[in-house]
Amino acid sequence: MQLPLFEYHRPASLDEALATLGTAGSSLAVLGGGTDLLINLKLRLERPRALLSVRELPELAGVSVDAAGTLRIGAGERLTDLATHPLLVARYPGLAQAIRAVGSRHVRNMATLGGNLCLPTRCWYTNQSEGWRGSQLPCWKTEGQVCHVIKTASNCRAIHSADSVPALIALDARLLLRSSQGERELPLADFYRDDGIENNVLAPGELVIAVLVPPARLRSVFVKAAARTGLDYGYATLAGALGGSNRAPKSLLLVAGSVGTMPMVLHQSARIILADGLTEASIEAAADAARDDLGEVTNLFTPPGYKKRLVRGLVRRVLNELRRQKLPAAD
Ligand SMILES: Cc1cc2nc3c(=O)[nH]c(=O)nc-3n(C[C@H](O)[C@H](O)[C@H](O)COP(=O)(O)OP(=O)(O)OC[C@H]3O[C@@H](n4cnc5c(N)ncnc54)[C@H](O)[C@@H]3O)c2cc1C
Repeated sequence: MQLPLFEYHRPASLDEALATLGTAGSSLAVLGGGTDLLINLKLRLERPRALLSVRELPELAGVSVDAAGTLRIGAGERLTDLATHPLLVARYPGLAQAIRAVGSRHVRNMATLGGNLCLPTRCWYTNQSEGWRGSQLPCWKTEGQVCHVIKTASNCRAIHSADSVPALIALDARLLLRSSQGERELPLADFYRDDGIENNVLAPGELVIAVLVPPARLRSVFVKAAARTGLDYGYATLAGALGGSNRAPKSLLLVAGSVGTMPMVLHQSARIILADGLTEASIEAAADAARDDLGEVTNLFTPPGYKKRLVRGLVRRVLNELRRQKLPAAD
């Protein structure tokens, strides 16, 4: 498959990038590492007239901690560098595990964090060649009015499967966005929408600049169930971040990925642990509760019953690993 022709912009500064983005509108696509976008261009899933490369912008670079202890990771950072970054490995092990779980080493060598955060949803009816898609009736994502996966669905149910996202939501991360109109910050959890087409709230002309992780000493874990580790998207993933002790946990966020059109926070499972502490019995109860937390899940890639059983097992695994993990050392 060949790439279509496109103009290529490589701005030298963020201001130049935002000015170009502000005037070009939807005919221009933002390019991070291109590991997803370029494939979508080959599949003719997207047809931008021009690409704007942002991964070398200095304003999108760097991993730092400010005086208040907030971690800032630039959106242009390469996943390979983040997966082995000493600060992430020591203080945010769940995030480092999640980043290491993205694709293969070759993919991570090119891919950026910003691209992972903005990864479009996937579906086996749309992530195919143009010819293959042409042999099917169109669906919500290809200008039809039906979902081939869930016939009764009133919108696109393609799956969100960006591995860094559940790990960052579990850490209560915030997103820094900027356009030529100014800057805004929002919780990463609020960035995603339950719609396989418009699956985030990035406004036209806006760029993801950085992720901000608030200061907290948390234990954190990420696990992924996939057909082949080291390459495939997950059938289901689960991230957890826990504050406090096993006996008296103070905070817990459990976030499932690759099971629906957006990441899902498992509130009931977390409530059980926060009330009873991390014991064998509470872990079993929390794993059982995940089923209700998930609600309706898609039958895309695996049957929904299987996905729910998988998440139940992942909850058990994450909680047991959190229980064993030592709290990261204080500064
Ligand atoms: C073989 C293979 C296996 C893969 N496996 C996985 C996997 O297991 N888990 C997983 O999560 N992903 C996987 N991917 C998908 C992809 O490689 C990663 O999600 C990667 O992190 C995307 O980053 P990128 O920089 O290459 O994004 P790009 O392809 O450059 O961009 C992706 C999207 O993000 C937008 N974008 C990029 N940067 C910004 C920014 N700063 N601001 C606003 N929008 C932006 C682009 O416009 C585009 O819509 C896989 C890909 C391949 C080819």
